[in-house]
Amino acid sequence: MNSIKELLSNSNNIIIVSHKNPDGDAIGSCLALFHYLKKLNQNPTIIVPNDYPEFLKWLPNNDSILKYEETKTKSDDLISNADIIFALDFNAFHRTGDMMSILDSSNSLKIMIDHHQQPDDFATYTYSDTKMSSTCEMVYHFIDKMNNTDLIGKDIATCIYVGIMTDTGSFRYSSTTNITHNIISSLIEKGANNTLIHNNVYDTNSYNRLQLLGKALNNLIFIKEYHTAYISLTQKELRDFNYKKGDTEGIVNYALSLNRCKMAAIFIEDEKQGIIKISLRSKGSFSVNQLSRAHFEGGGHTNAAGGKSDLNLKETIAKFISILPQYKNALQNEI
Ligand code: 5GP
Ligand code: MN
Repeated sequence: MNSIKELLSNSNNIIIVSHKNPDGDAIGSCLALFHYLKKLNQNPTIIVPNDYPEFLKWLPNNDSILKYEETKTKSDDLISNADIIFALDFNAFHRTGDMMSILDSSNSLKIMIDHHQQPDDFATYTYSDTKMSSTCEMVYHFIDKMNNTDLIGKDIATCIYVGIMTDTGSFRYSSTTNITHNIISSLIEKGANNTLIHNNVYDTNSYNRLQLLGKALNNLIFIKEYHTAYISLTQKELRDFNYKKGDTEGIVNYALSLNRCKMAAIFIEDEKQGIIKISLRSKGSFSVNQLSRAHFEGGGHTNAAGGKSDLNLKETIAKFISILPQYKNALQNEI
């Protein structure tokens, strides 16, 4: 921490980056760190690979975030000239999509703050803790270890709150500890408006999004034998309900909420990328991180992971069903 403190006082060009399809924890942690570095008289720039859901766009200084796919030349220039790059909420360059090559070739010092499993060894300083609820919780600890919690005002508190809330399913997953709640308590004390934050993130559904959710729930299949549920959405179904980024976020959790369900999946057709995007969730010790790494080029956490498939939707689902017998014992155990 002493070295980082010194580095921060001697560096001019600081870049903060996060993963592709940024979620609440990615955007929350980037913006929280941004506001904190501003208080240290730095002028950092946040670059994320691509666009993110509308329900995150009310966060303070959202407008200053660069999206790499829209600002490639400028962003390449910024990354090439960076003294320090903070890598937040991811632990392998391939998670940044098209930003991967410029990050890989940059000679900048890198600081990783992340809670995903099996981190790559690309950073000069790695703060990795897979037990943490969220990268936002780690940003709080980072500021605390810098002895700077007195610098946390309403903006930082709001951004950290959002990431902890979204990554813990509103404080219910097992990664939520008494320390997480202590931090939330101090964030509210420092000005985070909890009711407003929950409302802005969760209660701003469009009519189309709710109709799409209805469609998804109609498509739900439960494979009793393996305590496994899955949902699929075709590109046509997404189009029918005027799909916007973020509209499918959280739908997989409805599948997991089925009584006796141990693993849930959602398969979403993405014609533009020519892939099926997969989200996986589980309860207890069953690791969807391992399943996704083994079969769907993905990863994440024990109970929440993502991946993709180059097969078509039908074939992808058939592949998923065909691998279940390999996990028979683990899936058939009681939760
Ligand atoms: P989601 O299903 O909400 O997109 O992602 C769940 C978790 O898995 C998140 O922590 C996310 O960072 C991770 N994740 C999602 N997609 C991928 C992927 O394609 N590769 C890897 N390694 N992790 C992913
Ligand atoms: Mn996260």
